[in-house]
Amino acid sequence: MESSSTAAGILDVALPTHCHLDECGLPIDIILQTSDGAFLAAHTKNLEAYSSGFPPAAFTSAHTSINPEIVELPERKDVLMLLLQYMHHHRQPDSAKFPFDVLNRLAEAVEKYIVFSGMENVHTAIPNHPLAVFMYGVKHDYLDLADMAASRTVALPLDQVRKYLATRPDALFAWVQYREYWMKILLFALQDPPVAMHRGSINECNSWADYHRRTLQDLSGGLLFLRDIDNFLNKYDYKIKDCSYCQTRVTSWKGMFNKRIAEIPKFSSLL
Ligand SMILES: [Zn+2]
Ligand SMILES: [Zn+2]
Repeated sequence: MESSSTAAGILDVALPTHCHLDECGLPIDIILQTSDGAFLAAHTKNLEAYSSGFPPAAFTSAHTSINPEIVELPERKDVLMLLLQYMHHHRQPDSAKFPFDVLNRLAEAVEKYIVFSGMENVHTAIPNHPLAVFMYGVKHDYLDLADMAASRTVALPLDQVRKYLATRPDALFAWVQYREYWMKILLFALQDPPVAMHRGSINECNSWADYHRRTLQDLSGGLLFLRDIDNFLNKYDYKIKDCSYCQTRVTSWKGMFNKRIAEIPKFSSLL
């Protein structure tokens, strides 16, 4: 990071005089210049309080809102605006709604500048961006986070994951191994569960046929069913609500299913 208050051209630009957050009334005393040419006004006190990664040396000279220091950063405006929002005592932005590319760059920035509130916020993006969160966890050694996101990444094409794990062949190998466990779960789910004998010595009733056909349909997308596994397990229960034999069969099937899932090792244990 370098101070660039004397950089050519800056004087031609109207610098912001207020924080970009409407609800913020704090005085500004530093301007961050983004890599895409924008200027964001900020507060050194907040940067110091919420981040451990901004070099304190940049803040030592006494600057004021009339003469703010200008600091050039390599991040883009979209990411720096979010980063600054994390460094306020306001409602935090919902990372689950960020586009993948923004989340990826933001995750790097919160790590680089050590913005704790931002780090905590990254995990809420798991449902929408499991791969970005998984990558972030692997790369920065937050293995709990990688483990939380891992099962939602196994339905992704190997090519896509390989691209993101290009610098971590060890993690890619662990991911492939991890996915194998889930493939076994899929194969198990595709098999007919043990029958529950109905009254009159019949194996199944019409309710079962309907229930099972729909369940198999959901499995036709391969590991995609993992995206919403709780819903997958309970979605068609209404089909068997009138048959206690089928209910017994499904309950025992779910039990076996969950037991197998519980036995899958954590991704991080395969690293
Ligand atoms: Zn502010
Ligand atoms: Zn039945």
